[in-house]
Amino acid sequence: MSAVLITGASRGIGAATARLFAQEGWDVAVNYNQSERAAQELVRELTELGVRACAIRADVADPAQAAALVEQAVRELGGLDALVCNAGVALSQQLLTDTTDEQWRRVFAANVDGMFYTIRAAAPYFVRQKAGRIITLSSVWGMTGGSCEVAYSASKGAVIAMTKALAKELGPSGITANCVAPGVIATDMNAHLDEESLNALRQETPLERIGTPEDVARAILFLAGPGGQFLTGQVLQPNGGIYM
Ligand code: NDP
Repeated sequence: MSAVLITGASRGIGAATARLFAQEGWDVAVNYNQSERAAQELVRELTELGVRACAIRADVADPAQAAALVEQAVRELGGLDALVCNAGVALSQQLLTDTTDEQWRRVFAANVDGMFYTIRAAAPYFVRQKAGRIITLSSVWGMTGGSCEVAYSASKGAVIAMTKALAKELGPSGITANCVAPGVIATDMNAHLDEESLNALRQETPLERIGTPEDVARAILFLAGPGGQFLTGQVLQPNGGIYM
């Protein structure tokens, strides 16, 4: 059995990823921050699939909580083979000039600091076992930049650079680091988009639809599984072709 820790797995892409990994027989540590009930319901559902699963509360933007999260996941699952750094936040669309210091910090704290703290805690464990798969979540906006999404785009660009640097640093220890950069996916993060905006996005997308959390989960599972053995430092883009 293999074991995975997924940050921000109480909802959206993280929850779909937890379900898919469990369906494939992985033991799963479900990290959440505020959505305790959703995380616990998900763990119940995963356990019914016959795998080991646990819910662990931690704000990944806090270094002590991120370190404790990794430690508890290793303890409860009896090991760790993959880490999916999925927890993230976005602001509502706004001009850079309307973005406050607090908003900028909040986005970077969750999206960049959180990954740094979590990976820093997990890396020594992976190095000791000379194996491990690290998968980070960026975004199409981290590749192209999004108007009125400057803070979010900058944070997701940082994720790509961090992942590539890690791939070089950790490759000699048998560890891969890859990034998944989804296009527009139907989750709470995009719940503010009205039908007109969604239609415009569909028209821009060669596959003519908005992505599902499962579309992204399949890309993450691929990188964690046998298909990802010789892939590192890559950015896989489940985005329907909206950017290529
Ligand atoms: P959701 O808003 O649906 O869910 C976000 C998840 O992240 C929740 O489980 C939330 O936990 C968790 N989270 C947020 N901040 C923290 C924190 N500080 N510590 C721990 N957990 C935290 O987002 P999505 O599922 O849409 O997005 C998941 C990832 O994919 C994000 O990194 C996002 O940037 C990226 N992405 C999303 C796209 C989309 O279109 N939806 C497109 C491209 C990338 P809780 O509720 O328990 O607080």
